[in-house]
Formats: sequence, structure tokens, C-alpha cells
Amino acid sequence: MQKTKKEIYDVLVVGSGVAGCYGALSLPSDVSVLILSKYEKNTSNSSLAQGGVAAVLDLKDDSYDLHINDTMIAGHHANNIETVDALVHEGPEDVRRMMDFGVVFDRDENGDLDKTMEGGHCRRRIVHHEDTTGAELVRVLLQQVAARGNIELSENTTLCSLARVNSGFRADLLVDGEACSVFCSYCLLATGGIGRIYRYTTNPKTATGDGIRVAYELGASVKDLSYVQFHPTAFNSDDGEQFLISESVRGEGAYLLNTNKERFMDRYDERLELAPRDVVSRAIILESRRTGSDLFYLDITYKPADYLLKRFPGIAEGCRQHGVDITKDLIPVFPCQHYLMGGIEVDMDSRTTVPRLYAAGECANTGVHGKNRLASNSLLEALVFSRHAAEDIARCIRAGFPGVSAHPFTREISGAPMPGNVKSEIQNIMQRAYFVFADEGAVRTGIEQIKNIIKRLRGSKYAVTTEYCEALSMANAAYIILREVEEK
Ligand SMILES: Cc1cc2nc3c(=O)[nH]c(=O)nc-3n(C[C@H](O)[C@H](O)[C@H](O)COP(=O)(O)OP(=O)(O)OC[C@H]3O[C@@H](n4cnc5c(N)ncnc54)[C@H](O)[C@@H]3O)c2cc1C
Repeated sequence: MQKTKKEIYDVLVVGSGVAGCYGALSLPSDVSVLILSKYEKNTSNSSLAQGGVAAVLDLKDDSYDLHINDTMIAGHHANNIETVDALVHEGPEDVRRMMDFGVVFDRDENGDLDKTMEGGHCRRRIVHHEDTTGAELVRVLLQQVAARGNIELSENTTLCSLARVNSGFRADLLVDGEACSVFCSYCLLATGGIGRIYRYTTNPKTATGDGIRVAYELGASVKDLSYVQFHPTAFNSDDGEQFLISESVRGEGAYLLNTNKERFMDRYDERLELAPRDVVSRAIILESRRTGSDLFYLDITYKPADYLLKRFPGIAEGCRQHGVDITKDLIPVFPCQHYLMGGIEVDMDSRTTVPRLYAAGECANTGVHGKNRLASNSLLEALVFSRHAAEDIARCIRAGFPGVSAHPFTREISGAPMPGNVKSEIQNIMQRAYFVFADEGAVRTGIEQIKNIIKRLRGSKYAVTTEYCEALSMANAAYIILREVEEK
């Protein structure tokens, strides 16, 4: 039974984070669009973003070249200079458009935008809404989406797979757990990251790499999936989904301390606490081996309590829920998985190697981040390159490319329930094999174990549920990552 309003759409956008919503809003208003959201519409990496959006909005003390240079240094110069150039030059206009939509960024006492600092930036250029910037962007984007008559949003809707049909795709979905399919002439994948393949990640339950699997199954090129970012300072707890202590806390002066409560970054990098994320994460692991202890802390207690509570209300509250008062106590931290630099290979127009299939945001590999993303560049990337996808789709539609029509098909989703432990098996393998540093032996064993998991998932007649699709996506991402690590 049809669970969406229509059976045929011009554009299917998979994901209701910043990339999905902004991509949909950048399409012309006479194009019919269906946005899918796997769970509630605001459950996404985007909603959790704390630090802000990096953009050169004022050329008085900053320049595009400086932002480009910081991005390239953080990325170890493995970045694609053309996409970096587009990101940095075009991004400010997209940020201004977000303000026109109604996003409120913090301002100083003179009414100027309050720009913060994060690791790897040589200037204060990150605009933010307190420490809940992502939630503010998503709030406004979803409001805009709801106001647009051409856009439908379907929550609790999982894209299970895409099949190519004439002039487009058939998308097989589960809407509230029930099978439903739609046809679209163009598809924009904006499904976010892969964090959930690790036991310890900042990413929410949506981040299982579904878009990457779907693209891979269609034969799209997937590149540099092993470029995984481990954030150095997640709150150190046993929770699977780790609470992030944003880099802007170090940007505003927090010290990083080892188990002996000593600053130690000078042993590893002259930029100290403000070195790029990969450098700080590696320093923590090396320091833990040196001291024999996994205990690390952030200390920002020397700043006035009023200032801390105003500047970091979300982090203060998250820490308070874990029994830590950031105005008086040290914050226990440890690295955890945070972001994916690689992904579905796309060109400057966000086109994948499969005709009519686009990807943007964290699931896409535009090459802007190189081997390591500069802090607060990913929301900017999601904005700039989802707009590029929309502009290219609009060009194709205007050029009169034929649209999709419905085709007959059969689809079976019933089967035996998948065993409950598959996801945690994958997470344990990844945690052992490739967490900050790769463990050669565990990578080799991990590849064989993941191959077996994929065989089991594909070979057994399990019921097609969201849980099953996610496990398949996680195994697919884990396999590609470990193979890449092995080949390096
Ligand atoms: C804790 C945290 C803090 C961060 N802080 C910052 C920051 O300060 N600045 C910055 O620039 N970046 C930050 N990031 C990174 C940034 O938030 C993300 O990279 C970015 O928001 C990704 O946006 P996206 O739209 O690509 O994906 P997401 O926002 O993750 O959205 C993915 C969407 O895809 C949907 N989806 C997934 N699979 C399916 C499926 N099979 N079917 C249907 N729908 C599906 C999900 O439901 C979701 O709606 C942070 C990330 C985290 C986790």
C-alpha cells in the first residue's frame, strides 16, 4: 500500500539533516520532492553539532586564503583544492542565506557576530548558536521545509535499497516498518556518517552508513572510507553514544591534562591543545601508553563561571547529568569516533559515478577534508555541496531530460528475525581493529569476520527490517574500511 502521498517524485532526498533539507530547499519550487528521515526528523548528526560553522564572513582580520590554508593543513594536503576553493569562497553566502531563513547566531555586545576559535584555525571565524548550533540550523531548515508546498517529509521511513529503472530509480522503503516503494527521477543521498559501526562514537542511531551501502550496491565509486575522524575529547563514560565536549572549549582556553593532571601536548605538537583533531587524538593514545592510564581531563575552571554557563550551556548541562560541574570540576575525556571524511565519490556538482544519483553531506566524498576534517567545516560542506546537487538537478530538469515512470515489480520483506547481536559484533571488531591507530593483526582477522557476517546477512532469509538494513550497511562500511586500511 502507498504510504507516501504520491508514487512518483521528481527528486527523492534521503536524509533530513542539514545536507538533505538544504538540498531540498535549494531545488526550484515546482519540483516535487520527498525527503526521508529514518527516525524522527531531527534525529541526525546535524542536530548534535555544537561548535558552529566555519566561514570567512568578514575580510577585516581574515581571508579566504587563510581558511583554505587551514583546511589544507588539517587535511594533510590530501584535499581536493578545487572543492576546497568552492567551499571557502561560496560558503559565506550559504551561511548568510541561513541567517535570512531565520537562523540566530550569537552576537557580541556591539551586535557583531561572535566568532569562536577551534583547533587548526588561525583566526576566529566560527559562527555559532551558543553550543547548540546544529539544533538551531535544523530547527530553521525544518520550518522552511514545512512551509514549502512542493516538499513532503516522511519520518520513520527507511530507504532499504535503490534499483535503477528507466530515467530514474525505484526506492524500496519501510514506512513505519511497512513496505512501500516510490519512483524518482533523481536521488540525493544525504544519509550522514558511519559512526555506529564503532562502540564509542558521538553519532546518533541514524549513522549506520545506509546511503553508502545503497550507492555501493548500485556500483557507485566509494572512496577513502578509512579516513575516519576520531574526536579527541568526548566525555569519558561507558555510554555507547558519547557526549561531545566541543573543540571550542579548548578554543576558549581549556587545558588538556593527563592522569597526573599535567598538560602534556607540548610533547607531541607545538600547537598544543589547538592542534588538529587527529594530532590531539593520537597524542592522547600515545600519552596513555606512556603513563599506563586512560584518564584524561579538560580543565576550564579558571574562567568565570558566568561566562562558562552562558557560552556552553549545552555542554554544562550534559556534564552536570554525568555529575560534573564544568565551572569547578575537571571534565574526564577520551577520543571516540566522530566523523567520516571519505564516502561516496562525487564531483563538483555532487554527482556520483551513477547517472542521476547525487550525494552530499557526511556520506559524500567531495575531497574537501583530505585525511582530516578541519573543525566546523562539515556543516559548511553540507550546505555548499547539497546546493550544488540541487542546482545540477534543476539544470537537468530544465534541459528537459525525461522523468521516471512507474514500473511493475515484486518485493518480499518477510523472513526470520535477524539475531540481535550482529551490530555489536561489528562494533567490537572495529573497536579492536582500527581505533585512532590500526592494529594490523586485528585488521586481518576483522576482514574475515566481517566477510562472514555479510555472508550470513545476505545468505539467510532474514526479514527486511530497519535493523537488518542497518546491520547490512554497517558490515558493508566496516568491510570497505578494513580493506582500505590493509591495503595502505
Ligand atoms: C556531536 C557532534 C558534534 C558536531 N559538531 C559539529 C560542528 O560544530 N560543526 C560542524 O561543521 N560539524 C559538526 N559535526 C559534524 C556535522 O554535524 C555532520 O557532519 C553534518 O551535520 C552531517 O550532516 P548530514 O546532513 O550529511 O547528515 P545527518 O545530519 O547525520 O543526517 C542524516 C539523515 O539521513 C537519514 N538517514 C540515514 N539513513 C537513512 C535511511 N536508510 N533511510 C532514510 N533516511 C536515512 C537520517 O535519518 C538523517 O535524517 C558534529 C557531529 C556530531 C555528531
